[in-house]
Amino acid sequence: MIVGGWRPARVTAVEQATPSARVLRLAVEDWPGSDAGQHVDIRLTAEDGYQAERSYSLGSYGAGPDIELAVDEIPEGEVSPYLVRDVLPGDELEVKGPLGGYFVWRAGGEGPVQLIAGGSGIVPLMAMARAARDASAAASFRLLYSVRRAQDAIYRDELARSAADGGVPVSWAYTRGAPEGWTGRVGRLDDAAIREAVWPAGQQPTVFVCGPTGFVEHVADALVRLGHPAAKVKTERFGGA
Ligand SMILES: Cc1cc2nc3c(=O)[nH]c(=O)nc-3n(C[C@H](O)[C@H](O)[C@H](O)COP(=O)(O)OP(=O)(O)OC[C@H]3O[C@@H](n4cnc5c(N)ncnc54)[C@H](O)[C@@H]3O)c2cc1C
Repeated sequence: MIVGGWRPARVTAVEQATPSARVLRLAVEDWPGSDAGQHVDIRLTAEDGYQAERSYSLGSYGAGPDIELAVDEIPEGEVSPYLVRDVLPGDELEVKGPLGGYFVWRAGGEGPVQLIAGGSGIVPLMAMARAARDASAAASFRLLYSVRRAQDAIYRDELARSAADGGVPVSWAYTRGAPEGWTGRVGRLDDAAIREAVWPAGQQPTVFVCGPTGFVEHVADALVRLGHPAAKVKTERFGGA
C-alpha cells in the first residue's frame, strides 16, 4: 500500500560494483517510471520503529517495475554502510519518487550533451548514457568520469563495452592512481583537463555535473571560467565536502 508517497519495495538483486559500492535492484509497487537523471528517497525502518531516509539517484530510467540504484559506502555513515554491506535480496524497504525535474535528460533534447561525474555521481549520468544510446543519440554525448583509481569506477565494464560499440564515449580521470599504461596525468581535474575532454564552450553543450559537493562546485566553476554559460551547467550535489 502506498502511504504518503512511500511505496513498498523489495530488493531483487545486489551486485558488488567496486570495493566500496553495490548496485541494488528493487521491485517497487506501482512504479510509475522515471526520466533519466531522477532520484528517489529511500526509507529504512528498524525493528524499534526508528527511521532513516536518504536520496539515491536512479541508474535506470523509463517504465518497468524494477529500478536500479548504486550506493557507495561513506565510512561511519548511517545508511550507506547498511545498503552496501547488509541488505539482501528479499529485504523490504520504502521508496518515494521519482523525484527531481531539473537534472534530467529526455530523448529529443537538442545540441551536444556533456556528462561529468565524480565517484558515485556517475549514477544519474549512467541513466542518461543508457537513454542516449537507446535513443541513438550517443554521438552527441561525451562523458568525463573522475575516480580515485580504475577499480573505484562504478559501471566501469558497461561504460567501456558501450563506448566501444556506439555508446557514449568516455574520458577517464584518476585522482589517486592510474591503471598500467596510462600516460595522462594523475590528480584533481584542472581547467586544462576539463577543456581537453569536454565539448568546447562554443558548441554550447548542455552540461550535467554530479558527485560530491566539493567536486561539483570545483568543476562548475572551471566550466564557467572556460566560457560555458552558467545557465547551461546543471548540477546535482551528493553531499560531503
Ligand atoms: C539527489 C541526491 C542523489 C544521491 N544519489 C546517490 C547515489 O546515487 N549513490 C550514492 O552513493 N549516494 C547518493 N547520494 C548521497 C546519499 O543521499 C547519502 O548522503 C550518502 O549515501 C551518505 O549517507 P549516510 O547515511 O551513509 O551518511 P551520513 O550519516 O548522512 O553522513 C556521514 C558523514 O558523511 C558525509 N557525507 C554525506 N554524504 C556524502 C557524500 N556523498 N560524499 C562524501 N561525504 C558525505 C556527511 O557530511 C557526514 O559527515 C545522493 C544524494 C542526493 C542529495
